[in-house]
Amino acid sequence: MNRLVVLGSVNADHVLRVPHFPRPGETLTGHSYQVVPGGKGANQAVAAARLGAAVSFIARIGDDAIGRQMKAGFANDGIDVSAVEQDEHLPTGIAIIYVSDEGENSIGISAEANGALTPAVVKCHEALIAGAHTLLLQLEVPLESVFEAARLARTHGTQVVLNPAPARPLSAELLALVDLITPNQTEAELLTGVKVSDEASAAQAAARFHQMGIGEVMITLGSQGVYCSNGRQQALIPGFRVEAVDTTAAGDTFNGALLAAELAGADFHEAVRFAHGAAALSVTRFGAQSSIPSKQEVDTFLQ
Ligand code: ADP
Repeated sequence: MNRLVVLGSVNADHVLRVPHFPRPGETLTGHSYQVVPGGKGANQAVAAARLGAAVSFIARIGDDAIGRQMKAGFANDGIDVSAVEQDEHLPTGIAIIYVSDEGENSIGISAEANGALTPAVVKCHEALIAGAHTLLLQLEVPLESVFEAARLARTHGTQVVLNPAPARPLSAELLALVDLITPNQTEAELLTGVKVSDEASAAQAAARFHQMGIGEVMITLGSQGVYCSNGRQQALIPGFRVEAVDTTAAGDTFNGALLAAELAGADFHEAVRFAHGAAALSVTRFGAQSSIPSKQEVDTFLQ
């Protein structure tokens, strides 16, 4: 079976609901405190596995109960966790998230064990990357490790997909190793200098990505859908209209679903439709990994 390797972050998301964001010096009483599994790498690995892909995850958790619990959760979703290693010195990565009554969020993150996913650790998993059909990367682990993984994948003929989130400037050397890039509007603007708001501006940004040596570009535009270009054909493919309650992990679900469908043999339009369906379902639910639907749920939604 075509295997997907996801390399990326694991975070414990500490979520507190508050009437408004605390001002400097203010102590505020919140409610509904929860610790939930997150991290872009983990979310995308879980999405791809839940949606039918054979997934191996390369990641680093800390020597703590929450890290072990999340690793057990990944295994429960059918992910190969042999390359999810435990760091002896650092805690699992964290995000501290305030969600206001207006539904806005304010987030502080700390890489912790994710920061110890070094290029040397990545190199130890060369065989896994070499044996995969596709490698999926994001930017919540050290950039030199993202580069090392992409370099190894390119050497072995493994397709490199980069979801360049959260938005960070990237070197031309890294971008030239990417086969498919999947930024949202903010990330596309940071990397190309083009403010992306509609089809015309997305086309301009996509052209810049092609100039950087990237063959395939898919710029996600939230509720507007996704702009796709392979340099010869372009299209803005709309998503599904749903009542959005929490868009956390929409992009992560889109990426995981897209690759799960592609690796299962779907053609391009089927794969995009499946990814839109999965991401639309995820925005109708609260949370990150908890909002990611199963393949059966997506198939039912698309009928
Ligand atoms: P990110 O979460 O990375 O910022 P986007 O907001 O661009 O990514 O959304 C990714 C995908 O999720 C979209 O292409 C679409 O399929 C789906 N999506 C996001 N927001 C909505 C929404 N409000 N309604 C329906 N689908 C949505």
